[in-house]
Amino acid sequence: MIHGSCCCGAVRFTLAEPPSLMGTCHCTRCRKLGASVFVFAKKAAFTLTQGADDIAVFEPIPPYTYRRSFCRKCGTALGEIGAESETFPIAANCFDDDLAVRNRFHEFVSEKPSWSVICDDAEQFEKHPKLGGAS
Ligand SMILES: [Zn+2]
Ligand SMILES: [Zn+2]
Repeated sequence: MIHGSCCCGAVRFTLAEPPSLMGTCHCTRCRKLGASVFVFAKKAAFTLTQGADDIAVFEPIPPYTYRRSFCRKCGTALGEIGAESETFPIAANCFDDDLAVRNRFHEFVSEKPSWSVICDDAEQFEKHPKLGGAS
C-alpha cells in the first residue's frame, strides 16, 4: 500500500498498486501550480481515506482541459486525484512513501525556463508526448 497526503495532513489517500508511469510537465500552468512531476494512477487502485471536503478543484479555462486539485487548507498540489477517468495524474510531491517509478519523459519542454535544468536522460517532447500527458 502506498500512502500520500497533503502538507497539513487534512487530505490522505492510498494506492493499492504502485503507479506505472512518471512524467514531468514543464508547461507554465503546471509550473505555477507548483507541481510538475506526476505519476499516473488507476482509479480502481485509488482510495481517498480522509479530507474529501478539503479538496478544492481548479477548473480548466478553455482551451485547456485539465483540472487541478489542491488542499484548500495548505495549498498542496494534488494533481487530478479523484478524477472520473480510468487513470489520472497525481502530483508526485504528495506521496509519503517512496516510489519505484522513475521519470519517463519531459513534456512541454518548449515552455521550460532556463533556470529549470533537466538532469535525467528521459525523452523530451516539445509539447505532449501522446501517452497520457499531464498538462
Ligand atoms: Zn493540506
Ligand atoms: Zn503542464
